[in-house]
Amino acid sequence: MISERAKKVDSSGIRKVFELAAKITDPIDFSIGQPDFDVPEEIKEAAIEGIRKGMNRYTMTQGIAELRERILSDVNKKYSQKYEANQIVITSGVSGALMLSLMSIINPDDEIIIFDPYFVMYKHLTNLIGGKPVIVDTYPDFSIDYEKLKAAVTSKTKAIILNSPSNPTGYVYTKADIDAAVKVAKEQGIMIISDEIYDGFVYDGKFDSPANYYDKVMVMGGFSKTYAMTGWRMGYAIGDPEVIAAMIKLQQYSFVCAPSPFQYAALTALDLETNSFRETYKKKRDLIYNGLKDAFDIVKPGGAFYIFPGLKNGDVSSFVELAIRHKVLIIPGNVFSERNTNFRIAYTVKDEMLKKGIDTLNQLVVEFENRI
Ligand code: PLP
Repeated sequence: MISERAKKVDSSGIRKVFELAAKITDPIDFSIGQPDFDVPEEIKEAAIEGIRKGMNRYTMTQGIAELRERILSDVNKKYSQKYEANQIVITSGVSGALMLSLMSIINPDDEIIIFDPYFVMYKHLTNLIGGKPVIVDTYPDFSIDYEKLKAAVTSKTKAIILNSPSNPTGYVYTKADIDAAVKVAKEQGIMIISDEIYDGFVYDGKFDSPANYYDKVMVMGGFSKTYAMTGWRMGYAIGDPEVIAAMIKLQQYSFVCAPSPFQYAALTALDLETNSFRETYKKKRDLIYNGLKDAFDIVKPGGAFYIFPGLKNGDVSSFVELAIRHKVLIIPGNVFSERNTNFRIAYTVKDEMLKKGIDTLNQLVVEFENRI
């Protein structure tokens, strides 16, 4: 029954962790990429008000006008690039935006450049849609190398996907990284897709976007992480009007629209101050980085809520299995990478739990290295 397309997607890496994890009681769960705080009360109230006011029907495919206008106004204040009303679509999460944009631009065998380590969806969605992910390695420091990127471009390249702050590394692109990507994109006239879902979680300095330096950038933003509403499925894409029009057409025959009451509640979300969430996670970032940096190879993450430690010795899959047997749920690097040298921790847990996890990982790595 199953199509070749569906067979191309391999979710075995994550599944293995979840299968192991299902048998464990009271784990230290570092496996899930979502905040540990709940949706702020004001936003919940706005969603309930939306439902009571009758925001329960299909909205326009591209999303309610008030929300599109509000997001455009915020983005136009933030970025040097200015976007018009026909350049935005509200989507079912950034996942929806990624799916619709790739479906709108990929012809068979067209290439999408992705930096390794990558957010899992980029590779699999590109494959699913019949394109070819071209993977540019960024180890050991996760920065973008102009020459390497340039060498990856061919006549089939349709887009370069940037993700800063990054899932799974927490790396935040420097101005030099953005310059390198923008230079290659400009030279070749290639579109950049900038996945900015973690822009609310930048801990050292200010968030910067390629949209400040190049006009062919599709900015993708979301509400899932900033407001802890991963289950509400809210996101947006802003970019080339022709591509946006194609995305709206495809949304009409797939997702139809983003959830109505949550589009309404998103207006309240955008009025909310989120500094306290950022401060809380910055402290957790410091705690985990300082706690693990001596025993593992780590690039200090500047944002998001992930850290991607590398093992100094030994096989990561065996270490991950050992950690899971000791109730610490981590994800092996090969889920997000062509390499398997690192593992991902989502540090969105209570501080007590975080400290316990750090202690356990430090003890286990000594035991593990003594064995090899
Ligand atoms: N992009 C990145 C880098 C992510 O980490 C995630 C979720 O983990 C998404 C996009 C998808 O987010 P959503 O569809 O909830 O907006």
